[in-house]
Amino acid sequence: MLACNNISNTYKIKLIEKIKRTPTILSLRFSLSLAINFIPGQFLKVIFDESNYNNKELNKNLSFSSSPLKDYIEITKRLSESAFSQRLEALGIGDEICIQGPFGRCTFSDNHQKIAFLIGGIGITPVISILEYIQDKNLKTDALLFYSNRTEEEISFKEELNQWQAKNSNFKVFYTVTYCQPKDKNCLFGRIDKELVSRNIKDISERIFFIFGPPKMVEAMKELCLAIGAKEEFIKTESFLGY
Ligand SMILES: Cc1cc2nc3c(=O)[nH]c(=O)nc-3n(C[C@H](O)[C@H](O)[C@H](O)COP(=O)(O)OP(=O)(O)OC[C@H]3O[C@@H](n4cnc5c(N)ncnc54)[C@H](O)[C@@H]3O)c2cc1C
Repeated sequence: MLACNNISNTYKIKLIEKIKRTPTILSLRFSLSLAINFIPGQFLKVIFDESNYNNKELNKNLSFSSSPLKDYIEITKRLSESAFSQRLEALGIGDEICIQGPFGRCTFSDNHQKIAFLIGGIGITPVISILEYIQDKNLKTDALLFYSNRTEEEISFKEELNQWQAKNSNFKVFYTVTYCQPKDKNCLFGRIDKELVSRNIKDISERIFFIFGPPKMVEAMKELCLAIGAKEEFIKTESFLGY
């Protein structure tokens, strides 16, 4: 059965919570009337214009930023002046929207034993889905996250990441900021570069690398992985086209 106006694989979902992650990043949580079987790392399409599926201004892709084991789904948007951002921001508790999906093959599997994420800014959203799933399932996955932002204020999900790191010795996060010297001693100044990654990963050829984010960041991080000796078939990427 089609949930939205003549569009296949769609669902109506109801807003239950809005969470401001940073001044410019907003998460929205929705209850589900039907389970959506997605895999951590995947994304969905929010459809505000059901009459014109191809409306690229009002229908956009966003990653799941919650574990598939939760009884809600969460999406997280970096806010802009766009009509799409404004529609998302204006949603009230109880409002319903149409989504389509899940989509994407840059996904995590329970069999992955050693992984690393090279992430800039909003690329963190699918990583949160993966890491939350690992915590929910109590998996023993060895996971390293290199997470770069312009400033410390722009680091989203820091509290969750710090909590997971504190209770899971198999997970470690490296924060970097590129705009000015950080106050937090656990946060480094500068970009994610070969030196930082190779200094902190001793088993590069055994690890699966996940890279999510704006296309330029994805390209740069893929090059970095190859330069430090990662196996090409072990590098999984998803470009957030539209940035
Ligand atoms: C697989 C995938 C997952 C994504 N996950 C997330 C997520 O979790 N969170 C998130 O915030 N965003 C995510 N995005 C990006 C998202 O779909 C939007 O493109 C982005 O948020 C910008 O939307 P906007 O309305 O704010 O931007 P706008 O203000 O409309 O655009 C921002 C900039 O991008 C340019 N642009 C807009 N659309 C396109 C396009 N189709 N192609 C090329 N350039 C374009 C504009 O000219 C402008 O310079 C994802 C994209 C993909 C493909």
